[in-house]
Amino acid sequence: MEHLNVPPENHVKVLNGQGWVGLIDHLGTETTIVNAARVSFGKIKKEMDQRDIGLLEYLIDNRHTSPLEHLVFTFSIHCPLFIRGQWHRHRTWSYNEISRRYTEIDMEFYTPAELRRQSENNRQASFADPDFNPAELREAIAEHNKRSFELYEKLLASGVCREQARGVLPQNMMVTFWGTVDLSNLLHFLELRDSDHAQAEIQEYARAIKKLIKPIIPHVAAYFEKKGQVW
Ligand SMILES: Cc1cc2nc3c(=O)[nH]c(=O)nc-3n(C[C@H](O)[C@H](O)[C@H](O)COP(=O)(O)OP(=O)(O)OC[C@H]3O[C@@H](n4cnc5c(N)ncnc54)[C@H](O)[C@@H]3O)c2cc1C
Repeated sequence: MEHLNVPPENHVKVLNGQGWVGLIDHLGTETTIVNAARVSFGKIKKEMDQRDIGLLEYLIDNRHTSPLEHLVFTFSIHCPLFIRGQWHRHRTWSYNEISRRYTEIDMEFYTPAELRRQSENNRQASFADPDFNPAELREAIAEHNKRSFELYEKLLASGVCREQARGVLPQNMMVTFWGTVDLSNLLHFLELRDSDHAQAEIQEYARAIKKLIKPIIPHVAAYFEKKGQVW
């Protein structure tokens, strides 16, 4: 049996190789979308033609979203706890995650390769400053991660249950979860999270998802590229 913390074959690395997102499975193709849109006429096609591409673009343009819901993706995501918190706000996804009530193996902690400065005029924003990336602060983060894990292990060794001991683990702890979502809600997620308004780390995951799904939805990706987005 494979361990969930191992990335699936089809994955994209993020966060300097410390995180990843993998495509586990998907249901449907772009043809499924246009067929769903034409269900009302009782017609089914096996392959897309130019008219179907036009229909696909019309559906997205006009927020006629229900046909897009027939295409479904399952991802495996390996990310820090603080990113998982943001991700799980997206209620239209279904989630399952490794539980630290059951297992203490394979624990990893995120140590940023680059530290960003806090924006002075936007409490939610940060910015990269080429003159600011102190090695001693990154080492202090790694040391803090290590000390937290040592305390966690000490608590377990002293007989404290896993469900309480995990409370001392930092937000940098890496977690792995599965997320399943339909294309309509995934596009909404990508709009919000591959955006300058979103935290830089979750932007990396959103862009990785675009890379993974582009071969499955080439005309949808091309539509957004025409609108100026990077896919
Ligand atoms: C840049 C950024 C900053 C943020 N900052 C904060 C913050 O400071 N504090 C904070 O708490 N959150 C914050 N959030 C989270 C944000 O408020 C949303 O919870 C998150 O983006 C999920 O969006 P969503 O609800 O549209 O997505 P989903 O939950 O996937 O829902 C998709 C759509 O389905 C519909 N829907 C889903 N559930 C319901 C429902 N119960 N009732 C009605 N319609 C529903 C809505 O139309 C919704 O847009 C932030 C998000 C972003 C992108």
